[in-house]
Amino acid sequence: MGARPPGMPLVAANWKMNPTNIDDALDLVRGVMSVARGQADKVDVAIFPPFPYLVPVSDLMVESGVKLGAQDTFWEMSGAYTGEVSPAMLKPLCQWVIVGHSERRLHLGETDEMVAKKTAAVLSCEMSVIMCVGELIDHYDAGTSDTIVSSQVKAGLASCSADDSARLVIAYEPVWAIGTGRSADPEHAYKTLRLIRKIVGEMIGAGAARKVRILYGGSVKADNVQEYVELPLCDGVLVGGASLDAEEFAHIVKVTAEVYGHR
Ligand code: PEP
Repeated sequence: MGARPPGMPLVAANWKMNPTNIDDALDLVRGVMSVARGQADKVDVAIFPPFPYLVPVSDLMVESGVKLGAQDTFWEMSGAYTGEVSPAMLKPLCQWVIVGHSERRLHLGETDEMVAKKTAAVLSCEMSVIMCVGELIDHYDAGTSDTIVSSQVKAGLASCSADDSARLVIAYEPVWAIGTGRSADPEHAYKTLRLIRKIVGEMIGAGAARKVRILYGGSVKADNVQEYVELPLCDGVLVGGASLDAEEFAHIVKVTAEVYGHR
């Protein structure tokens, strides 16, 4: 259970509700493509722009090797769900979907049950999913991070099986480290990544669990990414704020490629 899964590391860029216009978004995509081109055989790079940018970004990224994803989806494929977008609608554009980001759990009341339904819906469309989990500062201070993260993983993967493993990614993102500039101590991150892999193994079998990639996220930047990607059980990073600066993001991708190249 200690070895890294056979897949490449993943560096995922969650743009959140940024940039505020399409021209800046396309400029950022060009920057990402230029760095990813040289690293395509060493690291998977995926970007997650806001919904309205998915079509133009997808057009620009044809054959670039950079993967495209959505920041959320609904769990039904069609119907009377005003404002929602289904995985089936995203599939022609996207290879990836993020579900259960803590900002959605906090601001929109997403529950573990909703996250589980979204995870299953994405996988049923044969797309890849990044399911986010992570504890609040109160849990961290009370020493209950493990309990919270365990229950989020167990609930979120409730209907997953070994067949889903290659398309399943779990991002451990301590909520107190997201967008705060306060990144988690690598020792804490390591212990939590280890816990997550153990739980995934119990749920879908240890062999299949080795194919599931587990990322760290939370204030990852060019100057701290190495501390995380060097962790033995870390399969990459989910990057928010720092992914909006093409130069900084390029550095994160390069460091990740270098570290995994030496493993
Ligand atoms: C995120 O949005 O998933 C994230 C990790 O954000 P940041 O890197 O800005 O903390």
